[in-house]
Formats: sequence, C-alpha cells, structure tokens
Amino acid sequence: MKKTSWQWKTIIEPFKIKTVEPLGFTSREERERILETAHYNLFNIKADKVLIDMLTDSGTGAMSAEQWAGIMKGDESYAGARSFYNFEMAIKNLTGLEEIIPVHQGRAAEKILFTALAAKEKYVISNSHFDTTRANVEASGAIAMDFPAPGALDFDKTGPFKGNADVEAMEKFIKEKGEKNIAMCIITVTNNSLGGQPVSMENLKSVKKICDKYGIPMFLDCARFAENAYFIKLRERGYSETPVEEIAKEMFELCDGAMMSSKKDALVNIGGFLAMNDRELSLKCRQILILTEGFSTYGGLAGRDLEAIAIGLKEVLNEEYLQYRIRSSQYLGEGLLKNGIPIVNPPGGHGVYINAKKFLPHIKPQQFPGQALACALYLEGGIRTVEIGTLMFGKRDSKGNFLPASMELVRMAMPRRVYTQSHIDYVIEVAAYLAKNKKSIKGLEIVEAPLVLSHFTAKLKPAS
Ligand SMILES: *Cc1c(COP(=O)(O)O)cnc(C)c1O
Repeated sequence: MKKTSWQWKTIIEPFKIKTVEPLGFTSREERERILETAHYNLFNIKADKVLIDMLTDSGTGAMSAEQWAGIMKGDESYAGARSFYNFEMAIKNLTGLEEIIPVHQGRAAEKILFTALAAKEKYVISNSHFDTTRANVEASGAIAMDFPAPGALDFDKTGPFKGNADVEAMEKFIKEKGEKNIAMCIITVTNNSLGGQPVSMENLKSVKKICDKYGIPMFLDCARFAENAYFIKLRERGYSETPVEEIAKEMFELCDGAMMSSKKDALVNIGGFLAMNDRELSLKCRQILILTEGFSTYGGLAGRDLEAIAIGLKEVLNEEYLQYRIRSSQYLGEGLLKNGIPIVNPPGGHGVYINAKKFLPHIKPQQFPGQALACALYLEGGIRTVEIGTLMFGKRDSKGNFLPASMELVRMAMPRRVYTQSHIDYVIEVAAYLAKNKKSIKGLEIVEAPLVLSHFTAKLKPAS
C-alpha cells in the first residue's frame, strides 16, 4: 500500500530498529559535578554522559541497512573507483549538474569554491550565509552579504517560507554596487542560520531571474534540500500532488551549481560535494581538490563513504521518511509551546529553537540566558543543546567583555532517524519542568574566553 497522504492521526517512525546503542544515564548529582568540571560549556562534556544529544543534526544520523551494505561494497581503488561513479550518477541524476566533485564535508566545498572563484573585494549575496560559508567567503577576501526576507527575525510570527531571500533588496544592492562586483549568489536551503526555515520555489525562481538578468551565477547550499522540497510540497500552492523528488529536481534546475554537506540530507556521517556546469571553474576546483583533499574520484573520502552517500541521497526523498522527519520537529515545537516555552515559530526542518531571551527575562544578556538554559536542560534531564546567542555571536569590547547579540536562542537539533517519539516526549517533560521552575535558573559569567570562536572553549561559572 503506497500512500502519499497518511490517513491516520498518528504518524509513526517509518523504520524498525536493527542495531541499538545504549544511552548515557547519569544522576542529577553526577551531572551537577560534570557541569562544574566542564566549566558550564556543553562542548566539554563526554558524549557518554549525555542522555539525549541534540547538539547538532550534522553527521549524527543513523544509516540504513542498505547503506551499511553499501559500506561493505565500497570500492577503495585510488582512481576511478566504482563507488565514485555511483556517487557521481546519484548527484547528476538529482541535480542535473555536469561536474561533480567529492569533498570530505561542506566547508571543504566552500573553501575550494571560493578559492577558485578568487573574488577578492567582490560581494557574495545570499538569503543567509551559514557561518562556515561566511567564514570561507571572507577568508577568500570576498564580502558576504545577507538578504533575509522581511519578518524572518520576528520569531513569534509564523510564516510558510521564512527562509526566503529579500529579492528586492538584493536587486537594489546589485544596482548600487554594479553587477561586475557581485561574484555569486548563494541560496541556503533550508535557511540554517534563521532556524531551518524553508525557501519557496517562487522565491528561488525570482532570485534566479535577477541573477540571470545581471549575469550572476546562482548556487544552492543544499545541505537540507530534501527537507526544503518537502516543505514546498506541504506549503506552496501547486505542489501538493508533486512527488518530492520532482520538486527537488526543479529546485536544482534553477541553479548553476550546488554545494552540499552530506552530513545532513545525504543521511551519512561524513562527506559532501561540489557540483556545477561551468567547466572552467570546475577545473580550477579540481586542482585545489587534488592539492588539499585528494584525487578527483575520492576527494578526501573513502570509497565506502561515496557509496553510502549515493544511497542516502535517494533514501532521503522517501516521503514517509520526510513526513516523520518534519512532523518530529513540529511535535517538539508544539509540546514546548503548549508548556509556555517560546520558540522560533514555526519549527524548522532540522530542529526547534527556543527563544531564551523571552523565556528567561530575569537573566540579562551579559549573563548568557541561552547558555544558562542549555546548562539547565543538561542538569535536569541530561539533554545536550547548543546556545546561539551572546556566547556564540556576541561581539567584544576593547577589554574583551561580551556585548549582547541580537538574539538569545537554544537550538534543539534533531539527529536523523535516531530518536523516537518517547525521547521527544521526555525532552518536552524536562523543558516543561524548567518552565515551571524558571526562576531557579541563574545566569553565568565568563572565567576565560578566547577571542575567536569562543563558544567552543569558553569557561564559565554561575554568576555571583
Ligand atoms: C553544515 C552546513 C555547512 C557546513 O558543512 P560541514 O559539513 O559542517 O563542513 C554549510 N552550509 C550549511 C547550510 C550547513 O548546514
């Protein structure tokens, strides 16, 4: 029985479990000590001491029996491996793009692309650059500019496509700077930096039109292309009957190239690719690839990784899987809202973002409300999340003190095919307990923090 619209209220995990891993149970007293030794920085906690790990959805998913079989079949030949041709075919078939370059993860694709582009002092425009994308654009000497849709930062207001680009603002900017100074346009699907919100097909088409008008290449940062395509099916007029695979192909038809972190929607633990039609640019990219990653038919991956990616790119378009995936995030979001916990609304594809600024108004930004909440979720429930706020993005004054960031969020990311509904029910229960006892959550202060990427290594303590 093949259904595209599920007729029952209960949406189930569309898999059964063959291999299991134990969870890391600890007592509250233990976690109190663990937090102290970790200096209230959750990156310092051993994964064994985490019960539900929602730190990231990147590389943390479960592979299928089919993918594990592919791992065994992987061809480890240095050049021309069979697994590479399976990988190449899967990506060509999906994207329609000609030149396919394997890389070990998304940021390697970014580094190679922007080095090859050599767009020093030119602009790269986007709906929103993901942070490693921005860092690689800037490391190449180019300038990264974001044009999120108006209203994208109003967390309480829902909307179907809050990941969209502001096309008018983009065109105004292109005219102002001159098209010769715009090196590339990158549309991130879904929009990771703004809560995993999708981009509509209509918006992609409008961006493409502008790019064509001014001769600017448009690339997709397509880490979560399948989640984006499924949102289009659910929310955009004219697509409710279209198979997600066709929607995904239509998205890729609009672009001149794509880069992907396979650790997301290719359902694997490592890998990525760079794809394009521009042959000349691809030759430059392959030269850099050989210099820094590996030969052009493996690009820093093992043959078995290429095989698993080829299979994952097909599996991810399974609509029962996507229905479960998107429903899981929604279910978590609804549960939090019901218990009075404000979130970025609507929930994104790959997780839910709690608005800690609104949830904990008694903690001022200089005392890191997001980090305080993340620590409280760990202390009470062994749940690991990540702060996206002043600790991660706060600028520093001349004495190194943190200045408040524009938002204080805590991301609960959902690893793919890893947790079941009762795990999510548990997370909601812990969060609801915190909502009832939020006055007991206290702010934190810095003991020491390096100036670069401080959130990974900062040491904190409860504020005095
Ligand atoms: C994860 C991610 C990247 C970077 O990929 P890595 O595999 O972590 O290097 C780039 N863009 C987006 C949108 C991502 O989500």
